[in-house]
Amino acid sequence: MRTASWARKSVRVSTLTTSAMHTATPAARAEGLTKTYGSGDTAVTALADVTVAFATGEFSAIMGPSGSGKSTLMHVMAGLDNATSGEVWVGDTALSGLKDKGLTALRRDSVGFVFQQFNLLPTLTAGENITLPLSIAGRKADPAWLAEVIDAVGLADRLSHRPAELSGGQQQRVACARALASRPAVIFADEPTGNLDSKAGAEVLGFLQRSVRELGQTVVMVTHDPLAASYADRVVFLADGRLVGELRDPTPDSVLDRIKALELPNQARAGHAPSAAMQLDKMTLKELRAIAQEQELRVDGKPPSRCTKTELVTALQEARRAR
Ligand code: ADP
Ligand code: MG
Repeated sequence: MRTASWARKSVRVSTLTTSAMHTATPAARAEGLTKTYGSGDTAVTALADVTVAFATGEFSAIMGPSGSGKSTLMHVMAGLDNATSGEVWVGDTALSGLKDKGLTALRRDSVGFVFQQFNLLPTLTAGENITLPLSIAGRKADPAWLAEVIDAVGLADRLSHRPAELSGGQQQRVACARALASRPAVIFADEPTGNLDSKAGAEVLGFLQRSVRELGQTVVMVTHDPLAASYADRVVFLADGRLVGELRDPTPDSVLDRIKALELPNQARAGHAPSAAMQLDKMTLKELRAIAQEQELRVDGKPPSRCTKTELVTALQEARRAR
């Protein structure tokens, strides 16, 4: 019966949210995590003694310059790659104690992943893409949960469409719903708005935030974009494979200030920023100048410090289009 099922669902979700907020076990944590690629002269230390915890029911962002180890941290914490030393726990489970079979089950049941490139299968509908990982595992989605996720992601009327018939933002929301379908302990999203324009980026970020606040999920997101990071409850900063700072209740301004204070090269320099999700016209003059400075932008020969807000927005938008 419809009424009963909705009533049941809302009770279950609110119980989950409450218990999630009071549980002491983080959704995922790492202790003394080190990851070295290669050996000898060519060895690269991607992570150097990282200890970090991601609380259950919280939306965390990871920021840091290109090459600082953000993707490596996510891959190792998601069980997609091995650590060189140190330990990772997803919930109470230590990853080093798992054999291949256990790791596969953990990745399937307890971890969700969202990629910059969506990674949807083009021949399947949106609905089929969402349930694919569960189908492969020979499991059925909990229908009430799936309905809740699809409702929250705003895709109920798009489920029979194929990815090519969806906008970038809709495709990424399908990918988010897919990551949520198994109700994992933690979702890792690696630059999920990196390929989206500002409106689509805001939709995806809004959904990730709702999945935490309303559905009790745990999300860890890598981003280059201070505006995207401001959707999170907390930002951790990486540089050269080390954790170098943390910020609670971030705003775009406080994130930019921290990036400056840490003297991190702004992500812009590596050709990343301003990311598409960055709403240039909503940024302050100070923020725009910081970004333009990092890009060594000149407007009619003028340095950013002598440009107006309008000049900077226009020039940054042009630079973005040119990429
Ligand atoms: P980020 O996501 O912050 O840009 P990564 O985690 O991708 O950084 O990379 C961290 C460092 O590890 C970089 O120096 C990168 O070149 C190196 N690295 C990443 N993956 C590999 C790999 N498979 N083999 C060798 N080096 C790698
Ligand atoms: Mg990366």
